[in-house]
Amino acid sequence: MHEAEIISLARDFPRFHPQMGLGIGDDAAVLSAPVAGSLLWTTDLLIENVHFRRRYFSPAELAHKALAVNLSDVAAMAGRPLAFTLGLALPNGLEDSWIRAFFSGLRLAAERWQVDLIGGDTTRSESGLVIAISLLGQTSLPRLQSTAKAGDLILACGDFGAAAAGLFCLEQALPGFDKLKHKQLRPEPLLADALSLSNLLGSERFSLTDASDGLGRSLQLLCGKELGCELALEQVPVLPEVWELATAKGQDPWEWIIHGGEDYALLASLAPEWAAQAEKLGWRRIGYITEAPCLNLNRPGHLPLELNQPAGFQHFGPAV
Ligand code: ADP
Ligand code: MG
Repeated sequence: MHEAEIISLARDFPRFHPQMGLGIGDDAAVLSAPVAGSLLWTTDLLIENVHFRRRYFSPAELAHKALAVNLSDVAAMAGRPLAFTLGLALPNGLEDSWIRAFFSGLRLAAERWQVDLIGGDTTRSESGLVIAISLLGQTSLPRLQSTAKAGDLILACGDFGAAAAGLFCLEQALPGFDKLKHKQLRPEPLLADALSLSNLLGSERFSLTDASDGLGRSLQLLCGKELGCELALEQVPVLPEVWELATAKGQDPWEWIIHGGEDYALLASLAPEWAAQAEKLGWRRIGYITEAPCLNLNRPGHLPLELNQPAGFQHFGPAV
């Protein structure tokens, strides 16, 4: 497909935010008014055979995911998304029907989250497909990763391990386990849950992060180098299908739950007096912050698993 046709597909998207000014068509997007509060700006790359395979991602799923992973970063700052740019590097021979399906999936996602496509760049790729989205958002009070204090409670929203379990199914081409595959293919950014917690807490201190690189990595981000945590692993929300798959295939479910990543669940730490109200909003208490800089993950009947090494999502690596 010719670049001009691709740009005309992008031009066709609806606009929701007039302050995002001029969009596609000129040399650069023009933001005609400043956003209220603070501007958020995040970028995530999806690279073929590093982050996804075209074998099992439909174009619409890939478009959804490319936007969703950026939306999750805005959620993790307690923000509202506004607009995005789309960088596309397309391999030779990619069918026009694939590109059209990608744009119609992207359009559905953009409509659902009311974000404007305001520009981008399109080029040919000599290797795989690359999708680079940069998303702008707005927040009145950015919620940072590491403002925790000893004694804060750790709460989770969403569930853990399903996306990695889904990836296992897709990589192994296992039949069934559609719910797990869906979690890998179409992650849901928890924008509303982040905002409702942020609204509850107003100007109170609390930290927030998304678990894009796994529960273990997010705990490290919440605790920083100075603090640690005690976590009750049996309280961590996990879909029953994760246990079922692990049992059926002789896999260690904790590996998916703790290190898997791509769940786009949220973790927060906050003063204990807020926990009961946060739980009413759908958040779940899973542990607390400690003064000792050690991450202890506890399971009844087991020694605590100490997590001190940087851990989290590992890319597929060169041997694929
Ligand atoms: P330039 O040569 O100035 O980079 P381009 O021909 O690449 O201009 O792009 C023309 C217009 O189309 C610009 O407004 C650009 O933002 C937009 N555009 C190009 N590719 C995309 C894309 N993949 N998605 C959205 N907008 C795009
Ligand atoms: Mg260009």
